[in-house]
Amino acid sequence: MELTEMYGQLGISGQVLQFTEEVERSLKERFQAIDQVAEYNQLKVIKAMQEARVSDIHFAGTTGYGYNDMGRDTLEEVYARAFHGEDALVRPQLISGTHALTVALAGNLRPGDEIFSPVGKPYDTLEEVIGIRDSVGSLKEYGITYRQVDLLENGDFDYENIRKAINGNTKLVEIQRSKGYATRPTLSVKRIGELISFIKGIRPDVICMVDNCYGEFVETTEPTDVGADMIVGSLIKNPGGGLAPIGGYIVGRKDCIERAAYRLTAPGLGKEVGASLGVSQSLYQGLFLAPTVVAGALKGAIFAANVYEKLGFSVVPNGRESRHDIIQAITFGTAEGVIKFCEGIQAAAPVDSFVTPEPWAMPGYDSDVIMAAGAFVQGSSIELSADGPIKPPYAVYFQGGLTWYHAKLGILMSLQKLSDAGIVFPGKM
Ligand SMILES: *Cc1c(COP(=O)(O)O)cnc(C)c1O
Repeated sequence: MELTEMYGQLGISGQVLQFTEEVERSLKERFQAIDQVAEYNQLKVIKAMQEARVSDIHFAGTTGYGYNDMGRDTLEEVYARAFHGEDALVRPQLISGTHALTVALAGNLRPGDEIFSPVGKPYDTLEEVIGIRDSVGSLKEYGITYRQVDLLENGDFDYENIRKAINGNTKLVEIQRSKGYATRPTLSVKRIGELISFIKGIRPDVICMVDNCYGEFVETTEPTDVGADMIVGSLIKNPGGGLAPIGGYIVGRKDCIERAAYRLTAPGLGKEVGASLGVSQSLYQGLFLAPTVVAGALKGAIFAANVYEKLGFSVVPNGRESRHDIIQAITFGTAEGVIKFCEGIQAAAPVDSFVTPEPWAMPGYDSDVIMAAGAFVQGSSIELSADGPIKPPYAVYFQGGLTWYHAKLGILMSLQKLSDAGIVFPGKM
């Protein structure tokens, strides 16, 4: 078998291959379902590009103020159409997901307003943006308050306390779709819709903003299809398709986007300025590829869940659960397990495969952390990447993979490293 031989040349043993082949065979139907979602989303993106009459003139860059940047304006129309919003802000000047969320929040809030999260604590970086952790320049310093209600133990919305928390100052509700690195379940678009309906039933004028990071194209609908006033995300995650070198997006209600734009640039200038500097083509092409890229990443996550579950490790989500984002957690229970897994992911990378990742003290973490990434775009987490804090329960979080075959190689390599170290024995089950 040529394929077996090729895997052999990359260092994957027959034992690891045999063990994982069986797992892969059992996932055939799930992979078919993922391909169907990708097919639908591919059509959705093509339709949006056709309706916006995308042409190669849109790939030309502008400099300076960037007045009349047709590529930028048309890309924003494409995003608005694909994600079913009235308008969009899609810019290389939005330097990350955190920045896009900051702009959406700060643009739409005024002193005395309150942000409300009905799904528990938001993503780590937002704690300083909002001022949950005191930080210079936080929204708290501008007189904007924050309130949250956690999910119930079983993962349900705590409707009773949500009703109580909504008050006269509540201006914006922040709903995070992905669990991120928390332990709560990721929300499906359907559940986000139910939550928004409930909130709008109490206060129809409140702005419902969804942090859509890691969720784009995992389902055939997005939160804007179920009542969200704004969805916000990063272009070095799902919608950038691995090609966007930088950027963030905000899609939604026209007035919300306008206020965000006045915050991003300047009052009076808004969306009219902001040179695209020649990155437009990669933003278009990345969005075009995103549905299949996300499908590959999802297959990788589900494959890993099933492989490691079969070996007796605890995995979140488990091997059978439906998926609403591309993040997979695996608990190894030992530092060595986490380290070997990350070494495997690194060794399978197209870039920096020769590097051995090591646990290190990182700003913002209270323990050493090991990170594996061999990415074309620095920090891109739609590319195959993993990180694990070296502390109990010794879990590793991983996500991405621009192609299913790369994601698969990463998992095989991780298993090989664990097997070589005598931590697991695939085949002896
Ligand atoms: C990644 C992420 C962010 C922040 O995005 P950055 O691009 O890393 O700043 C915010 N929220 C969630 C849920 C995320 O996954």
